[in-house]
Amino acid sequence: MPEGPEIRLAADRIAKALVGKAMDDVELVPPALRPQQKLLLGATVTAIDTRGKAMLTRFDNGLTLYSHNQLYGKWYVTRRDRPPKTGRSLRVALHTTYHSAWLYSASDIELLDEDAVNQHPFLTRLGPDVLDPVLRPVDIRKRLEDLRFRRRSLAALYLDQAFLAGIGNYLRSEILFSGGVYPFDRPIDLDRTSLTRLASATLRVSRRAYKNRGVTVTQSAVAPLKKAGQRYPEYRHWVFARPGTTCRVCDTPIEKHSVSGRSLFLCPECQPGA
Ligand SMILES: [Zn+2]
Repeated sequence: MPEGPEIRLAADRIAKALVGKAMDDVELVPPALRPQQKLLLGATVTAIDTRGKAMLTRFDNGLTLYSHNQLYGKWYVTRRDRPPKTGRSLRVALHTTYHSAWLYSASDIELLDEDAVNQHPFLTRLGPDVLDPVLRPVDIRKRLEDLRFRRRSLAALYLDQAFLAGIGNYLRSEILFSGGVYPFDRPIDLDRTSLTRLASATLRVSRRAYKNRGVTVTQSAVAPLKKAGQRYPEYRHWVFARPGTTCRVCDTPIEKHSVSGRSLFLCPECQPGA
């Protein structure tokens, strides 16, 4: 399942084709939405926002197309009227003069006005988006210290979209490794210095993954790995999906754990318990 950085990168591709452009033709395929498609004709796209794994296509008439891809949804951008070759079923197509954006297989699609966006049951449950550029480390630290979150394990917290939106399985392991914390500790077990370090790592690793297309290892660490012949899946992460290998920092064997059926990776040396 794509995580915040992958969703944001997809949004960037769509924004490049649609933002500032008027809708020349619109197809909303779900029967409940079809009567609304004429509302978007001629409207100009003002932004493609993301909130965690949800995408918000904003129009200058105050309407927002909300879509959540769940497991199977996928956006494509092509030249006008050149649908991609795919066996998936079309849900939405947005056509400008020169480009088309196609959404396939997503089940959660709604057309909302501003009030409905602000009251949306999924969006109102979400915490701040980890890729929101205004977010500062102190905001994350305060959230870790919040009564709602401080007694839960970091492993549980860092997949909870109400804590922070946009973090998924690989970012969880990579952030906790970079923050030097043991995933089964709780925020309340950590001193202020550790909380501050974790808060910084949360933003740094997420932003790096967005900037470097899913790579969470620093660019200076990637260079020698590439030189040694490693390919993207091998050099991409510090610990995630690297069972049977050793820590890039201290050479200790990487441990794999399962938390509610989802894999978590850690270095017991770099991530000692509090
Ligand atoms: Zn280590």
